[in-house]
Parts: sequence; structure tokens; C-alpha cells
Amino acid sequence: MSIKNTHSVTCPNCNNSQETTIYSSVNISLDKDIKSKVYDGEINLFKCNECSHESYIPVPFLYHDMDRKFAAHYFPKTSMKDTNFLSKFDLNGKLKTDDLNVDFKIPEYMHNIHIVFDMNELLSYIIFREILFDYVSNNN
Ligand SMILES: [Zn+2]
Repeated sequence: MSIKNTHSVTCPNCNNSQETTIYSSVNISLDKDIKSKVYDGEINLFKCNECSHESYIPVPFLYHDMDRKFAAHYFPKTSMKDTNFLSKFDLNGKLKTDDLNVDFKIPEYMHNIHIVFDMNELLSYIIFREILFDYVSNNN
């Protein structure tokens, strides 16, 4: 299922604090409604009620599609400076799945999670995998 929590987030522009829903992971096969939010770039997008500032909240986010059998993981760019973050990967840049924040048994394809450092790139990759899935399905 999708994992989300409500946090108080401070606007980087005007310092206004407001309650914001932060998603750490979504499974779009089990939570179909969330997909439009992903497509609209609304996931973890902070929108300030005071000054209308919009920016992504820099928190890790896992996107999981069980039907097409792929997963992609966003991490904030600043994570690269964190040794705790680096220790999650092998030398090939592959995310070790031992300490993934999920509540199910890790399927085989999740041992090869696509890593991105940009939320827009995450969306591009999801679109790519969906187009690719249709193409390969129609040509076999
Ligand atoms: Zn603001």
C-alpha cells in the first residue's frame, strides 16, 4: 500500500508553517487513485497558503508498479553527501533492498530499482516504462 504521513512543513520562501501530506511510497497497483497525483506532479509538492510558493519537499519517495513490474526511487540530491545514504548502495549504484521502507515481501524485479534525483525525471521514467510495457506487450 501507499505510505504517507502528515508533517508540518516550513515554506522556504516566507517561513509559513503548514500541515502537508508527505508520501514515502506509493503502490499504484493497489492505490489507483494516487496515479493522477503522480502524473500531475502533485506528490510531495509543497504549496504555500501564504505566498503561493511551490517546491518539492526533499524527501525520499518510492514509486511501485506491480502490474508492469518495476519500481523507481527518488532521493534528494543532498542525500549524496550522506554516508548513511551511500551505504544503501553497492558499487554499481544498485539499491540494496534489505532496509527498504515497504510492508511486503520484496519481489524479484525490485532488486533493480531505478534511482533518480529529480521528481520530474521520476515522472519521465514512469511514462517511459508504461510506453515500453505497451510496446513490448503488443509486439510479442
Ligand atoms: Zn510561503
